[in-house]
Amino acid sequence: SLELRNLRKTFGSLEVLRGVSLSAQKGEVISLIGASGSGKSTLLRCVNLLEKPTAGDIILDGETLALKTGKAGLEAANRRQAERFRSRLGMVFQSFNLWQHMTVLQNVMEGPLHVQKRPKSDAMAEAKTVLERVGLGKKFDAYPAQLSGGQQQRAAIARALAMQPDVMLFDEPTSALDPELVGEVLNVIRELAEEGRTMLLVTHEMRFAREVSDRVIYLHNGIIEEEGPPSQVFDNPSSDRCRAFVSSIH
Ligand code: ATP
Ligand code: MG
Repeated sequence: SLELRNLRKTFGSLEVLRGVSLSAQKGEVISLIGASGSGKSTLLRCVNLLEKPTAGDIILDGETLALKTGKAGLEAANRRQAERFRSRLGMVFQSFNLWQHMTVLQNVMEGPLHVQKRPKSDAMAEAKTVLERVGLGKKFDAYPAQLSGGQQQRAAIARALAMQPDVMLFDEPTSALDPELVGEVLNVIRELAEEGRTMLLVTHEMRFAREVSDRVIYLHNGIIEEEGPPSQVFDNPSSDRCRAFVSSIH
């Protein structure tokens, strides 16, 4: 499970996260929704320390990440612990961020091989397995430029899965895709949800969020303003702002 306690992030005088607490139980799928600028990406980036939180705790399976005060905020006090934490979180971005000079297979093997230091045969077997899982069993030797956006995003998901993460973090994984390619990526994410992956998903795909999420969190100005099962957040929110937001997006 992943737990965040009172996470804060400021950029200069701008308070982007103003105390966010949430916990994702094992197997739970949580969608994060909210207007542009509400802090969704910053939240995911703080969780895996791509961004330095200003305050708060990050707890994985009961273990609190040790943080110390640095220049731009809190940073890891113990580098090995931070690396261990990060390797347990799989991140998928809006832009696929594949290495263009490597084949799909090489992209997916990179983490297991060089971060986890697994034997090459093992890394390759793992990479092939996850690529087949996302429907790219025939594309091992293709370069990213030879793939559609949907295929590239599925390769990026495979790359995250190859690290055998405990929690998957998705930041608008379909927003950069042509509409006809969105479905194939959502199908992969849906399968991961169904097989009991723990996931935090930032999305504007409200119908999808309703379908796959155990819980939906509506963020407004860096604060959780509404939180509950999809039926509550989408159909019967107590926050008027949340109601206006979800009806504007539908
Ligand atoms: P979107 O739906 O557009 O992706 P978001 O909810 O993901 O929005 P964030 O990207 O988390 O929003 O940004 C929240 C706020 O923090 C915005 O006002 C943004 O301009 C600001 N911000 C984000 N990153 C930085 C940064 N590195 N330096 C300064 N301000 C930043
Ligand atoms: Mg964002």
